[in-house]
Amino acid sequence: MDYAEKYALIGAGPMGLAAARALSKHAVPFQGFELNSDVGGLWDIDGPRSTMYETAHLISSKTMTEFDEFPMKDEVAEYPSHRDVLAYFRDFARHFELYQHYRFGAEVLSAVPEGEAWRVTWREGGEEKNALFKGILAANGTLSEPNMPAFEGKFSGELIHASEYRDPRQFADKRVLIIGAGNSGCDIAVDAIHHGKNCDISLRRGYYFVPKYVFGKPADTVGGAIKLPMWLKRPIDKWLLSWFVGDPQRYGFPKPDYKLYESHPIVNSMILFHAGHGDITVRKDVDRFEGDTVWFKDGSNGDYDMVLCATGYKLHYPYLDKGLLNWQRDAPHLYLNCMHPERDDLFVLGMVEASGLGWQGRADQAEMVALYLADLQSSGASALRQRKQAGFERATGGMGYIDLPRMAYYVDKRTYLAKLHSEIKALRGAK
Ligand SMILES: Cc1cc2nc3c(=O)[nH]c(=O)nc-3n(C[C@H](O)[C@H](O)[C@H](O)COP(=O)(O)OP(=O)(O)OC[C@H]3O[C@@H](n4cnc5c(N)ncnc54)[C@H](O)[C@@H]3O)c2cc1C
Repeated sequence: MDYAEKYALIGAGPMGLAAARALSKHAVPFQGFELNSDVGGLWDIDGPRSTMYETAHLISSKTMTEFDEFPMKDEVAEYPSHRDVLAYFRDFARHFELYQHYRFGAEVLSAVPEGEAWRVTWREGGEEKNALFKGILAANGTLSEPNMPAFEGKFSGELIHASEYRDPRQFADKRVLIIGAGNSGCDIAVDAIHHGKNCDISLRRGYYFVPKYVFGKPADTVGGAIKLPMWLKRPIDKWLLSWFVGDPQRYGFPKPDYKLYESHPIVNSMILFHAGHGDITVRKDVDRFEGDTVWFKDGSNGDYDMVLCATGYKLHYPYLDKGLLNWQRDAPHLYLNCMHPERDDLFVLGMVEASGLGWQGRADQAEMVALYLADLQSSGASALRQRKQAGFERATGGMGYIDLPRMAYYVDKRTYLAKLHSEIKALRGAK
């Protein structure tokens, strides 16, 4: 196996596929590795690292999420189910002939710099193999490694993380407590309402709720044509939200102590609907467990059969030494969230989140990286290299995002895409 002139691309989820497409388009040699037996990433509910659940659908609408060059089929719903999304990625991989670039059932165990190259070790068919590569493109996802909080006391019922949740039947006849109200937490709470005996939700902070539909259209497709500055957009959107969803505080949801867009909004039309029907009780932050009783910080308590922690995920690159990734607190500090300031042989792909970024935003990231690698192959230098070495800030557009690990790699979509597009334009011009 001679891989010395190839980059190792790790992961065949949406991001890995976007990268495979861009690298093949720009004739950058690479070898893909995918732990699962097929492409699709976490959208394959049976995948070994998947955190998908049966009732999951896209939170963003299909036209705002799909790759521009490969629209989803007309018959696919506006908010497709995870099965339709998986079928889409398999079609994408077939259409652009990406399967041939991957080794499937191949888990990368370590990637270690060795002279000018990287020694990659992977497990495949029960055997460990290794080879030297030119560089590393890490696209192994951001939502696979559970962030499980430590609680005081012991819970005698079933305590699971959202990553272990697959099927609403897991709630049958159970008194359920969901901890955390992110997008998955709210989706899963609705399943527990429908399938469990009863459901409470415990929240630490307030959230802004956005309905899936406004004026009969997917909410993220409305109003996007007019680009307003944040000082104007925020009060208008807040006013629209108060109009469409009312005041979640009247159902016991805490008032957010941050401004709209300083955290990822919750896109869910069902949770407030059920709150209004008395189907869910909003609880304070958890204080401690005692048998099947959960005590909350306001001194109240409830008895449960199952506690499900929808408490998010941690960034996880277990095959790379932590010192290699320029971590700053909760996330690697990388130029446009993907390029190492010093190294030209190590890239992290897909470690980016923004309201409405979709897969096209990730495809743009892949395009920039592929063009950069192609540029390095030909001229061997680039103005981009100087920019990334000179020091940089995350593309927040001046937004004061709340200080949470999941927001540590969050960007302002408009600022981020403007920078990406300008780098892409410059790289294309240099060709
Ligand atoms: C319930 C849910 C709903 C979502 N809804 C939306 C939405 O509406 N819109 C949106 O834009 N995003 C949504 N997301 C976010 C989602 O993370 C992205 O859509 C997308 O899946 C990220 O792609 P990825 O390729 O970066 O990561 P993943 O999809 O996680 O793929 C990573 C791949 O890497 C492989 N891998 C991991 N480690 C290794 C290793 N060591 N060696 C080899 N292979 C490895 C895994 O098997 C996997 O196939 C949702 C996520 C969830 C969980």
